[in-house]
Amino acid sequence: VGNNVYLRGLIEYSNNCSKNCFYCGIRGDNELNVKYVMDDDEVLEAAKFALDNDFGSIAIQAGERSDRNFTKKITDLLHKIREISGGELGITLSLGEQSEEVFKEWFDAGAHRYLLRIEASDKDLYSKLHPKDHIYDDRIKNLKLLRKVGYQVGTGVMVGLPWQSYENLADDILFMKSIDIDMCGMGPYIEHRDTPLWEHKDILKPQKERFELTLKMIALLRIIMKDINIVASTAMQTLDPHGREKAIAVGANIIMPNLTPLKYREGYLIYENKPNLNEEIVETKIALEKSLAQVGAQIVYKKWGDSKHFKERNKTK
Ligand code: SAH
Ligand code: SF4
Repeated sequence: VGNNVYLRGLIEYSNNCSKNCFYCGIRGDNELNVKYVMDDDEVLEAAKFALDNDFGSIAIQAGERSDRNFTKKITDLLHKIREISGGELGITLSLGEQSEEVFKEWFDAGAHRYLLRIEASDKDLYSKLHPKDHIYDDRIKNLKLLRKVGYQVGTGVMVGLPWQSYENLADDILFMKSIDIDMCGMGPYIEHRDTPLWEHKDILKPQKERFELTLKMIALLRIIMKDINIVASTAMQTLDPHGREKAIAVGANIIMPNLTPLKYREGYLIYENKPNLNEEIVETKIALEKSLAQVGAQIVYKKWGDSKHFKERNKTK
């Protein structure tokens, strides 16, 4: 994919989640996590910011909810974003598992990329990380549905999870190859004290090792899947101030600068020590250009930066 980097302005729309993944700080049962939902105006303002700053794309992420209030609200927001941007902004969603109808409704409203991590492609490991309502086969079904509806489909895993072996990680890469993903979002697992997995923190690899292992995973995946989009995740930046740049240097090509209003950032602590809680958005952009130049990469503005892999697959159809 060369040295070009594409941006997706990240909008962390809400931390309200109906699920209870054992690793995640915004799991529904974490009562210490004060719930928020961004106002429509705030979402549109963030989208406008992305547009005015030539980001090319946005990504909307939130806790998982499948009630009609929520799914309809997302549809309405997608329509409004399309309206204010004249369809110029590419839109990625990361809103968890949904029905085929909802995936289609959002697709028709203008979203065209979807990130749904498999989290761990090994069934046993998956079951240790999730309560019983989180079913591995449903996850796979959802990934297939997303493809069927027409999205560019992204998945990924957390690296350095408790009980995760090197074989598991190798299999994760083979899994991504076998389901022929278009995009990957992969990051180190970072423990959070208000989650059930916290009690296993002593069996974790040191954070530095998890970070380096993630770099290796990105590099290997890039060799194996040359034309997909790979995200340099915020979790990489959490473990190393230059984590995203290092990820870009070894093969990632997407960065998701956070456009969530500052007042909500404390509420979206999926893991501990998440960076940029106070950082102003404009500073991020200028700093990012400079630090990417140091690893020989440059940001491409005003472009969606879609997955080349997706385009190639559809060409041969
Ligand atoms: N609810 C949606 C999107 C928000 S969560 C979903 O689950 O798909 C986005 C990602 O955050 C998850 O896919 C997971 O891989 C990651 N995540 C959650 N807790 C984490 C942790 N403790 N360390 C690192 N990544 C984590
Ligand atoms: Fe909810 Fe996503 Fe966190 Fe799971 S990972 S608890 S679905 S926000």
